[in-house]
Amino acid sequence: LKIGSFNHGRVPGEMEIQKGIAAAQKPIVDFHGIDEGLIQKIVYDALVWSSLHGLVVGDRNVQRSGKLPGLGMVHAPIALLPTPFPESHWKQACELAPIFNELVDRVSLDGKFLQDSLARTKTADAFTSRLLDIHSKMLEMSKKEEIRLGLHRSDYMLDEKTKLLLQIELNTISSSFAGLGCLVTDLHRTLLDDYGEELGLDSKMIPGNTARLQFAEALAKAWAEYNNPRWAVVMVVVQTEERNIFDPDLTWHCIPYLGFTYNVRSIRKTLAEIDSEGQLLPDGTLAVGGQAVAVIYFRAGYTPADYPSESEWSARLLMEQSSAIKCPSISYHLAGTKKIQQELAKPNVLERFLDNKDDIAKLRKCFAGLWSLVDLDIIKEAIEKPELFVMKPQREGGGNNIYGGDVKETLLRLQKEGSGEDGAYILMQRIFPAASLTYLIRDGICHKDHAISELGVYGAYLRNKENVIMNDQCGYLMRTKVSSSNEGGVAAGFAVLDSIYLT
Ligand code: ADP
Ligand code: MG
Ligand code: MG
Repeated sequence: LKIGSFNHGRVPGEMEIQKGIAAAQKPIVDFHGIDEGLIQKIVYDALVWSSLHGLVVGDRNVQRSGKLPGLGMVHAPIALLPTPFPESHWKQACELAPIFNELVDRVSLDGKFLQDSLARTKTADAFTSRLLDIHSKMLEMSKKEEIRLGLHRSDYMLDEKTKLLLQIELNTISSSFAGLGCLVTDLHRTLLDDYGEELGLDSKMIPGNTARLQFAEALAKAWAEYNNPRWAVVMVVVQTEERNIFDPDLTWHCIPYLGFTYNVRSIRKTLAEIDSEGQLLPDGTLAVGGQAVAVIYFRAGYTPADYPSESEWSARLLMEQSSAIKCPSISYHLAGTKKIQQELAKPNVLERFLDNKDDIAKLRKCFAGLWSLVDLDIIKEAIEKPELFVMKPQREGGGNNIYGGDVKETLLRLQKEGSGEDGAYILMQRIFPAASLTYLIRDGICHKDHAISELGVYGAYLRNKENVIMNDQCGYLMRTKVSSSNEGGVAAGFAVLDSIYLT
């Protein structure tokens, strides 16, 4: 009976021991037992707190909300209370962050590995093919990125049967919710400070989350490394419409809190604007609207929809050719594709990039089964038992994967057509996390449902030539979704933002 784990420093009373027994048996909070009136009170407080602290997104129902800040805001979709998560797995996920940071950096330097691994994908997937074209051009130019900045998020699920923490994917471009995720942690801590005693929960068991501050610090440090006398800016590349409108700003607005060391200014530009206003100066400097750019922080450019015309592609190429620090560079972007994730999981591939045997073992332990579609035995198995697999194209942003019966149907179709389209996909072992009862709030409405969670851990990496300036784990993002839903994106409408309660 681990009463101590949620009643710090006090002798528990009779009621608390009762709660302790319930907690030790499994769910940390018995959501069946919470009084409905109390829930309504907490929901109300959560909504007030969200509005007052900027835990908001643009409301889909208000047309202009995606274009202008401050119009038609609605609270972000959230879990009412933090979700229990084992401390040992939490520590494991944190430990992996700097190792993945280093891995991405090493892989990014092996242009041939990236091109060869993605060669079959290139013929089947026009979007990845365009990214590879830019990458090829940089290889031809022998372009060197001496200052390299990565802001990543590695996502995991805890497989119920094996109790293994398994990686879902590694995001190297536009790793979102570092801003809003920190606010959810603050919200949950506040709610437990107020209602913890009634709920039998202790706010101290929610780990602190400084993702946005650390991301801001990485951006500012990168800017300082660039060391441009012309007061170069940090340019945030944004989508033309973005309902998660404040997430990059929440990160960005932390910079003043870093003290007076950094006097950094930022601009926001769409890819189309960069194409029309951008130019490459003879010394390689990128100037946009007449301003020199030191760091480019991509919050767009990861999905085909961000490139509606040739303009956007020429903007991407222009930026890549410049001396600005790109977060991510084209090779960091490609290193984060699902195809590369699958290639890295093959035997003896990690050994090509990392020297430390312990690090390699730690990474391998979190790899789920990953296969390319040239593996005929796996295709046969996936057609027979499609519910045990997820089929993934080279896409980001949620809502693109294939599940269940559709896996079988798609594999049969690809086999019949034999057109090489299979090169666009990878197959992955489906991970089944334990479901637990959760309160989810979306659009002001709170409902109770069985839900599963995905933990993302942020990492920041900054390097100038041989000098590693930052290689840190930076806070986390918990996302929770009803267990009947396959996909998980918050912006895509499947999941809610959450935090963790260590058990
Ligand atoms: P994206 O880059 O679009 O976010 P992901 O690989 O993260 O792609 O997949 C999207 C969602 O699909 C995840 O958030 C998760 O909910 C679900 N998912 C992905 N892979 C698996 C898997 N192997 N097992 C179970 N669910 C998965
Ligand atoms: Mg992704
Ligand atoms: Mg994802």
